[in-house]
Amino acid sequence: MLDFLGNLQRTDLCGNLRATDAGKQVVLMGWVNRRRDHGNLIFLDLRDRSGICQVVLDKELTPEGHAKGEQVRPEYVVAAVGKVRLRAEDAINPKMDTGEIEIEATELRVLNDSRLAPFSPAEDAIQNEEVRLKYRYVDLRRTEMQRNFRLRHEITLAIRESLANQGFLEIETPILCKSTPEGARDFLVPSRIHAGEFYALPQSPQIFKQILMISGFDRYFQIARCFRDEDLRADRQLEFTQVDLEMSFPRRDDVFTVIEHCMKAGFAAAGVDLPTPFPRISYDESMRQYGTDKPDLRLPGLVDVRPAFTDAALDTLQIDPALPIVAFRIPKVGELSRKQREDNHPLFDTKKGAKFIDDFKRLGKGFPESAAKVRELVAASDTDFVIIVAGDPAHHIKASDTKFPGRLSEREINVYNAAGNFRSELAKKYADRHGAFKVTEEIVEASHSCNVETAIDGSQAFHPIWLTDFPMFEYDVATGKWVPAHHPFTAPYEADMANIVSDPASVRADCYDLAMNGLELGSGSIRIHRKDVQQQIFSSLGISEEEAKARFGFFLDALEYGTPPHGGIALGLDRIVMLLAGAANLREVIAFPKTAKAIDVMAEAPTSVTEQQLKELHLRVVKRG
Ligand code: ASP
Repeated sequence: MLDFLGNLQRTDLCGNLRATDAGKQVVLMGWVNRRRDHGNLIFLDLRDRSGICQVVLDKELTPEGHAKGEQVRPEYVVAAVGKVRLRAEDAINPKMDTGEIEIEATELRVLNDSRLAPFSPAEDAIQNEEVRLKYRYVDLRRTEMQRNFRLRHEITLAIRESLANQGFLEIETPILCKSTPEGARDFLVPSRIHAGEFYALPQSPQIFKQILMISGFDRYFQIARCFRDEDLRADRQLEFTQVDLEMSFPRRDDVFTVIEHCMKAGFAAAGVDLPTPFPRISYDESMRQYGTDKPDLRLPGLVDVRPAFTDAALDTLQIDPALPIVAFRIPKVGELSRKQREDNHPLFDTKKGAKFIDDFKRLGKGFPESAAKVRELVAASDTDFVIIVAGDPAHHIKASDTKFPGRLSEREINVYNAAGNFRSELAKKYADRHGAFKVTEEIVEASHSCNVETAIDGSQAFHPIWLTDFPMFEYDVATGKWVPAHHPFTAPYEADMANIVSDPASVRADCYDLAMNGLELGSGSIRIHRKDVQQQIFSSLGISEEEAKARFGFFLDALEYGTPPHGGIALGLDRIVMLLAGAANLREVIAFPKTAKAIDVMAEAPTSVTEQQLKELHLRVVKRG
């Protein structure tokens, strides 16, 4: 039989009571986390979002409360009325924040019962993620999830505050709008009122935020939901949240300063001090040093080992002398057997026109000097695992050979990329041995008990880095054309403008990415603010005037009404929270995420709809096959 709440008032949160509260009369409300029946004494661990408190139901003191205590089960919702008292010396639990006290109950009200869930929020590790997501409301009660969402809230609040303090106005932009060209597939929403016409959900607020600059708002930001119909990954969901901002008359450095302030504030809210300013690296240099545009600086990078080989050696080893020859080491892996090395081979991307050498014994037999020199160049110790990656002349991939002085060619980038991907896969695989990621885990763990005032030094755990000087275009192997590497509103370097048509490969984009620990955290650019340049970019992208007009005519029009120079950036909020929560998947920091198969298993979306709904939307479903 359930009780009514009546006019019972909660006085405290369960997790907040301490020894200094002894003697206080309290009313607590929450969920039964655990229940232990010792005959005349029943112990309930009562849980709310602040933590857990032990409630004692003594048959002598409250026969009625005790009788109810016999009935309650885990996850029942109860109210306990009683007095805080100090626990007996031998009953103190130093692992609990409230471990020195307990509630001597005089009344228990059972406010609601609960079906037996397939798992208990009191358990730490629940294996089946699908079950967790189906019963998300139970899953979210777990301490870890409560902590993740509190963290998310604190970080978001701090970022918001930081941007407001820097003069940014928060302005909302539409969800039902027109396609934004971010390179992903759109989610479309059929219009009931306009038969056969569709809205697109925003891939980002890009065009609108630029129009807000034309509108004179000077500095805009939004914690914006973005939608992209892409395959899901650990760090990618169909909908995600960006800290999106745009500013008028900025130089790139102004954008960096704004973001460094707000990243520092966000990290501080999570108890981590993030040193600023962040280091910078050009795209080409990042490729040379890490083989990726989202470098993880926690492990040694790539080293040019060309000097270790004679031309004859390269010839015998069948290495392309015209392409990069690099090596990297994964520290402390120890000696690997042939079988263990072979198990690593599927981690190497063979489609990049590159090959690798990981058998140093064999290399040492044929080319002892080269083998020794490579190990010396990468500064390897005996226990480090060293891998050489180089161009494979026997595997000539389709790529552009265009080469401009001072810039990397597509073919070179491919070799660096093969090395960089192999490096990061092996780094993940041997994480327990090299221990470089553990530092981050430890700082994250320690930060959970810190706050803004006591923030701990995050310089060894988090490695932010700005990437600059990206190529404006990349070579599309399928069509043999140079296509934009970024959204088409990205400005080219003023100095490179003259080459857009003649030498697209040489043109640098005035855009930048923020990477941290192997993740892309954000990207942005200085925008094109002149219509003539915008049209030139569209035409170099093969977007005809008609197409440009149909897709972004409204924006091109707006550009003609006094557009200030402007630029901005968007940070992936979910990813920032994921890093600071020490989570391996975005699902841990998004309350109601989709599975890898793009399904909301709790709400059971997507689903089919009624004929009537389809009719109203002027749609008919045609099944394939
Ligand atoms: N709209 C871009 C994105 O979503 C960010 C930007 O350029 O500001 O990646």
